[in-house]
Amino acid sequence: MWIRSLFTISRQNIVSREDNKRADKFRAGCYLSASEPAMTNSNCLFCRILRGEIPAKKVHEDENVFAFEDVNPQAPTHILIIPKKHFAGLKEAQAADAEVIGHCHLAAAHIARQRNIEQGYRTVLNVGPGAGQSVFHLHVHLIGGRPLSWPPG
Ligand code: 5GP
Ligand code: ZN
Repeated sequence: MWIRSLFTISRQNIVSREDNKRADKFRAGCYLSASEPAMTNSNCLFCRILRGEIPAKKVHEDENVFAFEDVNPQAPTHILIIPKKHFAGLKEAQAADAEVIGHCHLAAAHIARQRNIEQGYRTVLNVGPGAGQSVFHLHVHLIGGRPLSWPPG
């Protein structure tokens, strides 16, 4: 019996050590093998946050997306959810990006549930400089925790 549990524990350790190594490599920017397409962009601010080169307050992470507190919050909850794959914005998105854009919104719903702001929150995608986009790595703003007026400015 104890041999079986010993086996289970060491197997779990191996799996989590592999996961950690993978995460470390991703952060270090060498996650990708030569055969995989480049996922991050060396000059992009949010890719640098993803790689751990610029600090950010992480709120959520899964295999597709990363979420962190906005440095200049416009509401009690203001979180940015980004795909782990770099692309500039909604305008530049390809059909293959549909799933990850959906994941960003589902992550926003998950965080809103956790923060107990489901009575009313907003997900915002600024598209292009004319709409206020200033960082060109697609991101969904999750804004809530105060009354939100309509139309937005
Ligand atoms: P956009 O204007 O492109 O829709 O949104 C970019 C957001 O990124 C802004 O709300 C801005 O406050 C946030 N931001 C810009 N630089 C940083 C940073 O270095 N760290 C974090 N956490 N947020 C940032
Ligand atoms: Zn990027």
